[in-house]
Amino acid sequence: MSEPSGAAVVIIGGGVTGLSAGWWLARAGVDVLVLERGIVGWEASGRNGGGATHVYSPFGLEEQRLWPQMDDLLGYPTEYQPRRIGVALTEPQWALARRWAEIGEMRGFRWESLDRRQLKELVPIVGDNAIGGTYLHFGGHANPQRTVQAYAWALQDHGGRILQHTTVTGFTVRGGRVTAVETTRGPFGADTVVIAAGPQTGLFADMLGVALPLAPARVEMIATEPIPLMPTGGVAGNGLYGRQTLRGNLVYGGGPHEWVNVPDMAAPEHPNSPLVRNLARRLAELFPGAAHVRLIRSWGGVVENTPDGLPVIDRLSDPDNVVLATMSSVGFGLSPAAGRGISELVLHGRCLFADLAALALRRFADTPPDWRERAGWVVADARLAETR
Ligand SMILES: Cc1cc2nc3c(=O)[nH]c(=O)nc-3n(C[C@H](O)[C@H](O)[C@H](O)COP(=O)(O)OP(=O)(O)OC[C@H]3O[C@@H](n4cnc5c(N)ncnc54)[C@H](O)[C@@H]3O)c2cc1C
Repeated sequence: MSEPSGAAVVIIGGGVTGLSAGWWLARAGVDVLVLERGIVGWEASGRNGGGATHVYSPFGLEEQRLWPQMDDLLGYPTEYQPRRIGVALTEPQWALARRWAEIGEMRGFRWESLDRRQLKELVPIVGDNAIGGTYLHFGGHANPQRTVQAYAWALQDHGGRILQHTTVTGFTVRGGRVTAVETTRGPFGADTVVIAAGPQTGLFADMLGVALPLAPARVEMIATEPIPLMPTGGVAGNGLYGRQTLRGNLVYGGGPHEWVNVPDMAAPEHPNSPLVRNLARRLAELFPGAAHVRLIRSWGGVVENTPDGLPVIDRLSDPDNVVLATMSSVGFGLSPAAGRGISELVLHGRCLFADLAALALRRFADTPPDWRERAGWVVADARLAETR
């Protein structure tokens, strides 16, 4: 069978951003092709905490509206579970949990304060070290692997195509437009190109003469053996985010981030043991009732970070048929809404359901080239070298 030769819309990157955008486009009847250098969801999109509680984002309201419908819209399960609980072990953690809840309240969502007794009823594994908590009637979480697969299947159900093991290496630009995407399997013609390559999005922007400030960082996650299912499986606290899977495992991650260099950005093969031990200690503090439970897995992933922590979703003016989309560490939860927004940028030149001004690339017009160094977001070795 001959390989596809191009498409109306070629999307670089088979993570949740590219797949969701491709799915929205395909369901609108657009001829779409996703090019992925590995397999779909192999990078951050399949390795994350599954959290979907980003009500502060311009996409926040749409994120909250779409997630409860995603299984029906996609036709495949994402294991989405609504609501979140925040546990505070200290006064600063309590203030932070309330702050997140109040941001939701400002956007029209409900939350309640929980005392220790109420907290223990909802989350039996919290201990006497908890001083209180928040119950969010919004937010939620889903299974990243299931969700990636659901997007990929749904996209193909609507006639979209995905080509894995195909690395994009450059662009053919003619008359102020990208006319083809060059790959290890040859060129693919395109009317419009969406660059949704996670941390690598900045490299592609560079090729087009556009500066997109991105700092990649490595983060770790741990998973325990299963414990009995809790009434609410989305519980955060003690600097950790995560969820209880439907099987019962506690899957958690959190800072600190390790800054990495652009050439080292492939998904890490092995977790960083000191970070994993730190996560495990904090998980046992958060859930003393599960401190005896064994860790069965850990893994690392690379997140993409912009200087202000917000995504960049923008349609370029030159070349004028390219949309950039990189999610700055919050791309899983936002993916249903971000994909819809990207599809509208492709189809209408602007997002019809949200004001994306806060996500425009021009906000970094004055960002100096050494912004990473100024922010201290540099790899540990490089910092040591500077002080020598
Ligand atoms: C451990 C961890 C925990 C996280 N927790 C959460 C969370 O709880 N909630 C949340 O919302 N977000 C979370 N995130 C962030 C979230 O996972 C990312 O923001 C999101 O997955 C980004 O999706 P993406 O599709 O934009 O990028 P990616 O998942 O990075 O996908 C980009 C794709 O582009 C492909 N690609 C790159 N270069 C090329 C090339 N040259 N040619 C072809 N293809 C290429 C890559 O192979 C990759 O598959 C977490 C991330 C990590 C690592």
